[in-house]
Amino acid sequence: MRRKTRQIHVGDVPIGGDAPIAVQSMCTTYTRDVESTVAQILRLEEVGCELVRVAVPEMEDALVLGEIKKRIHIPLIADIHYNHQLALEAIRQGVDCVRINPGNLIHGRKALEEIVKACKERGIAMRIGVNSGSLDALDKQAQMQRIQIRRRSDGVVERSDPAEERRREREQLAERMVNKALEYISWCEELDFHEIKVSLKSSAPLTAIEAYRRFSQRSDYPLHLGITEAGTLVPGAVKSAVGLGILLAEGIGDTIRVSLSAEPEQEIPVAYEILRSLELRNRGVTFVSCPSCGRVEIDVIEVANEVERRLAKVQTPIHVAVMGCVVNGPGEARDADVGLAGGRGKGVIFRKGQVVRTVPEEEFLDAVLKEVASLLPEHEAR
Ligand code: SF4
Repeated sequence: MRRKTRQIHVGDVPIGGDAPIAVQSMCTTYTRDVESTVAQILRLEEVGCELVRVAVPEMEDALVLGEIKKRIHIPLIADIHYNHQLALEAIRQGVDCVRINPGNLIHGRKALEEIVKACKERGIAMRIGVNSGSLDALDKQAQMQRIQIRRRSDGVVERSDPAEERRREREQLAERMVNKALEYISWCEELDFHEIKVSLKSSAPLTAIEAYRRFSQRSDYPLHLGITEAGTLVPGAVKSAVGLGILLAEGIGDTIRVSLSAEPEQEIPVAYEILRSLELRNRGVTFVSCPSCGRVEIDVIEVANEVERRLAKVQTPIHVAVMGCVVNGPGEARDADVGLAGGRGKGVIFRKGQVVRTVPEEEFLDAVLKEVASLLPEHEAR
């Protein structure tokens, strides 16, 4: 069961309540380089990004946000640290949301209050982002003190269980993150501002999971899920799938970002794959392909990768299977909207459970793509 959160809007995208879990990403370009930033956002839109965030480290970056916004089609979120004047300018430029970590605003609560007032005037949302990185050092210090105190009072050096210590440290850190987020929310609520979503990110999935779980027991503001600094494509995708997947399976999370040290366009398919796996979104291709083995009779890895690449921009929900031999091939291919079951240099093409024809290996790709195209609306079939 999805946890019931209050609904807010970022531009025209609803977040929380019964809205679909929204997929977002962040540009890697220098925001002031308008051409590159717009080009990257348009590429993100093509693969299904629904909200995009850009970094605003300097006033030069803030001042081009209006121009960027005019040329894109999805809500624009300004990512601000330290200097609240950047947030105020971003809001003047017409962004749809600002992402703030109130803990690192130089002028603290007073600065947050100015941002809140500006958000209220323009009717836009704010993400309160609490990151474990900024609280981590303090917790480590507290833990060291705890260990030392125990040694003094016992009179002997007692070795604690490292796993137990890590768990305790994690819980403490998560609790501090949640308390900080709730404190910042209360500052906003005192100004009667409620268009808030919250993120509680950590590069350690277990810490993030703990923090999001705790927060969701104490508040109904919508949650932006992310495992921050998750790493390069493979480790980052796996960490995100584990961290986000566990929370989403528990009904927690209203919008997600998969953070990868890779082109941001690569984050989007990973996000949708996580959501499709949990049957939370069904956009695009649900892809089944066998890993191949000693029984394989076609080059299943090459065909599967090429089919996946060629269908990366499809938005219509469609189920495609590419299977290597007769053992599991016909069953999976028959269950798909379009399936290929390989065998001895040729393959059987299925469409909606029916055999359409048998084709030689060199025609696999064209045959699968042709059948998929016949099931897509015209604008996607081209
Ligand atoms: Fe191996 Fe055939 Fe199964 Fe593919 S479908 S993994 S080739 S047995």
